[in-house]
Amino acid sequence: MYKAFLIKYAEIAIKGKNRYLFEDALVSQMNHALKKVDGTFKIRKEQGRIYVETEGDFDFDEAVEALKCVFGIVGICPVVILEDEGFDKLAEEVIRYIDMAYPDKNFTFKVNARRARKNYPLESMEINAKMGERILEAYPGLKVDVHKPDVMINIEIRSQINLYSTVIPGPGGMPVGTNGKAMLLLSGGIDSPVAGYMIAKRGVTIDATYFHAPPYTSERAKQKVVDLAKIVAKYSGPINLHVVNFTDIQLYIYEQCPHEELTIIMRRYMMKLAEHFAKEKKCLGLITGESIGQVASQTMQSLAATNEVCTMPVYRPLIGFDKQEIVEISEKIDAYETSILPFEDCCTIFVAKHPVTKPSLNVIHNDERKLEEKIDALMQEAIDTVEVIHIEA
Ligand code: ATP
Ligand code: MG
Repeated sequence: MYKAFLIKYAEIAIKGKNRYLFEDALVSQMNHALKKVDGTFKIRKEQGRIYVETEGDFDFDEAVEALKCVFGIVGICPVVILEDEGFDKLAEEVIRYIDMAYPDKNFTFKVNARRARKNYPLESMEINAKMGERILEAYPGLKVDVHKPDVMINIEIRSQINLYSTVIPGPGGMPVGTNGKAMLLLSGGIDSPVAGYMIAKRGVTIDATYFHAPPYTSERAKQKVVDLAKIVAKYSGPINLHVVNFTDIQLYIYEQCPHEELTIIMRRYMMKLAEHFAKEKKCLGLITGESIGQVASQTMQSLAATNEVCTMPVYRPLIGFDKQEIVEISEKIDAYETSILPFEDCCTIFVAKHPVTKPSLNVIHNDERKLEEKIDALMQEAIDTVEVIHIEA
């Protein structure tokens, strides 16, 4: 019965020129998301409203699912768009609408009219009262409840008339493309896909870097990261996933440095390499899934040691989250089942039994000197042999 959606987005945050940037990015992300859905969709911007209109048959559920992944959307309202042919005709349409949308005529409702076009002969309050009466006449089983109605019948009088009663929540946030680009350090774990999702939610375009250590990490571990990138890409749009061969660097650190410092030193080289690709791709920051105290490499001291090698801002959206809170988001975005697949990642293989939890920068600097001979060449080799995979959801 629906041929269109009315899209609600947060207007308060966007004023002046930014509004056009916001709306244009939103439309472009919506177009992208709907490309994969069965049907023909046309997106129309009009007077602070965005409409998705369809031609012919389309898959309603798929369309809603796709729109639920577009950041910036606050609500998705399946809408019936009517021409203004007088109040009586409108009442007929509303009654017909209720019949189709609510086969079971046993609920409370409220009419919420909004007269955006001031030359309409009735004021909003009058429309509410008169339409309420007509509805009650047609369906005596219904009741009005102005405080907590089961169904809110929204009637927006514009050049045309919008009639809707369902608001499907969108993901909120800002449309991707409105806030620059960042490089996500994406592992096969639970945290980093969530971190990427959260930063993309603020309108940031995402690229990703994964450190792969064959043969210690398998093809399936890499495939898992590709799958996770696909899940993040459902929300963020396309991701350039940089797969870096990290084995030789890890082995070299393992040979040269005290084992309790392996993880920290390794993480410093990960950051340096990620930053290299970030600069190449014109990113303005790095993103990790770190959270204070979660593991030895995420104490305040360890984070300081990791952070020290970066010249770009490092965004850590999960920094104050408990694991359970992260898991909840992971489940919400459908990443959890993939994240918990049991493939080794490159950090778990080289972890020491007793990693330092309070690394001293002096000690780390000293020990990193033991890498002087070969590390630059190995870094260059890792850069030269990177595999970039274009990921689309
Ligand atoms: P995650 O669940 O994201 O794997 P984690 O709890 O396992 O995180 P660490 O292994 O300490 O924590 O990693 C911290 C962060 O470093 C990750 O969230 C991710 O951003 C980055 N990271 C770790 N390993 C890799 C890797 N192999 N490739 C790319 N980034 C990585
Ligand atoms: Mg991990």
